[in-house]
Amino acid sequence: MADLIVRGGTVVTADKTVSADIAIEDGLISAVAPELPGARREIDARGLTIFPGLIDIHVHFNEPGRTEWEGAATGSRALAAGGATMFFDMPLNSSPCTVGPVEFDHKRTALEESSITDFALWGGIVPGNRDELAALAECGVIGFKAFMADSGLSEFPRSDDLTLFEGMREAARLGLPVAVHAENDEHIKLLTARAAATGRTGIRDYLESRPVLAEVAAIERAALLAAETGVKLHIVHVSSGRGVAAAFEARARGVDIAIETCPHYLFFTEGDVERIGAAAKCAPPLRNGHERHRLWGALLRGVINVVASDHSPAPPEMKREPNFFRIWGGIAGGQSTLGVLLTAGHHERGLPLTRIADLTAAWPARRFGLKLKGSITVGNHADLTLVDLSASYTLQENELLQRHRKSPYIGEDFLGAVRQTLLRGQPIFADGKIVATGTGKFIRPAKI
Ligand SMILES: [Zn+2]
Repeated sequence: MADLIVRGGTVVTADKTVSADIAIEDGLISAVAPELPGARREIDARGLTIFPGLIDIHVHFNEPGRTEWEGAATGSRALAAGGATMFFDMPLNSSPCTVGPVEFDHKRTALEESSITDFALWGGIVPGNRDELAALAECGVIGFKAFMADSGLSEFPRSDDLTLFEGMREAARLGLPVAVHAENDEHIKLLTARAAATGRTGIRDYLESRPVLAEVAAIERAALLAAETGVKLHIVHVSSGRGVAAAFEARARGVDIAIETCPHYLFFTEGDVERIGAAAKCAPPLRNGHERHRLWGALLRGVINVVASDHSPAPPEMKREPNFFRIWGGIAGGQSTLGVLLTAGHHERGLPLTRIADLTAAWPARRFGLKLKGSITVGNHADLTLVDLSASYTLQENELLQRHRKSPYIGEDFLGAVRQTLLRGQPIFADGKIVATGTGKFIRPAKI
């Protein structure tokens, strides 16, 4: 007899949605079929749509060292409320940053105690740590992250072209992807200096200091280095249609390049930064309506591989500064990824539910070698998200479970609400509350 049956829901699989029951034994999916026999426990999922738990491959929980910014305890709760069952934490802004095996162990131990979802860890590429990459791979990092522009954090300096090239060569040898923050450093620095010299410190000035061209130029350069090394390249948070087009051209030439975008680039435009202010500051910045339109086009055509939150909070005091350049950037939207894709994607633009499952779960599992994750398939972890597609809500500040309840999505209307999230068969979020009783596991990638 199964431990649990999730009964009567509409199950989102790789290529279709089917009405079926899901049986769970020992945390694994043991059957997906209509009218399965009884189990010890049942969840009534009639009227609900069941997605594979989201795998948010890009978050900054800043633990250890900067848990006053977020922390995995609060960050993972926010994700669970948004339907996620796993995250990949970036090597910054924790302190220490994850640039060697000792730092890795610190973070892994801390997160094993605090996260309520499963997790994997990115390692970092910074000038001077190339000899640490093999040890980080041994520890089980999911891949390596590098910055082509200033990260804002002196502990995590940007990679010059040689550092990036040699880091990619090493990552290729280790069989791991390299993710890059792609903006041209020189271009941004000079525009920023010019704005400062003429006393221009407003929101519009900031937006103009980080143009689409700087993103396109960096993507092309990263693609060139990736082609030389044969590494799997991952462009994080592509913000513009032109950025996607540049990556797509490289893909057409044979570069193994993955394209990630974030919900905020799909939901907001630069006009919203002017309306919302600090909570909507990020880098690359939000773009104009034309770029957003092209981004949606690329998403609907299947050119974009993955949507991840880039959840990156900071304490409120770092968000209060009259000079917009000095405000700490980062959008804290980890709880809203599925809401954005269902509302602005499925309901408004016809994005199929199967595509949403692929963008948020199946592709990450395939690409990063998470053998038991990412799809509602017999033998996989029973990581499930039960959603009422017809429920609408306006996001309230007090519904946010992250440490600081600041998000550009507060006050926005969504259609499609998460009712329950299960991690390996155990409910971790249900009826608006966190119900997790244990902690998540560190997951290392399989060799792929
Ligand atoms: Zn990030």
